[in-house]
Amino acid sequence: MDKLFCIKCGECCRKIPVNFNRNLIYRDGIQPLTEDFKEILSPVVKNGEITYCICKYLRENLCSNPNKPEICTNYPSSPFAYLPDGCVQAGNVFIESEKIKQRVRKLKEEIIDYNILVDTISNKFERNGLLKIIDRHKKFIEKYSEYGSNDW
Ligand code: SF4
Ligand code: SF4
Repeated sequence: MDKLFCIKCGECCRKIPVNFNRNLIYRDGIQPLTEDFKEILSPVVKNGEITYCICKYLRENLCSNPNKPEICTNYPSSPFAYLPDGCVQAGNVFIESEKIKQRVRKLKEEIIDYNILVDTISNKFERNGLLKIIDRHKKFIEKYSEYGSNDW
């Protein structure tokens, strides 16, 4: 994803959404919360299951962590990255997530068409070929299920 110049507001290190019950962090997409990362977080405010945390290494809006974890180095790289309000990357992330959503919708349409075809094809080889494509499409859709792909 093309990244815009980060304005270094520090918000993405000041309001990190975490679900401590499920050990999940909502940062570059939904990621497992590692013990190492948990140690550098300080809870600030809780909203339902989500606790917003500040990173202990945030100094004057900049990262002071000499061993910046991988979870931070490429952020935001996921089309489903969680961004704080006002982040300049929001437009890019939105565009990338829309591309994935459009792809998922197209694959769902194709699955419907192929399922109809499967019922009409008697050739076993062609039939199996279509079933494999349907399976691949479903796997792609499933990959984004945690972001709501079943409802797109
Ligand atoms: S380690 Fe650095 S980049 Fe990562 S959350 Fe902390 S301050 Fe931000
Ligand atoms: S919130 Fe966005 S603009 Fe601000 S420091 Fe993080 S990535 Fe940069």
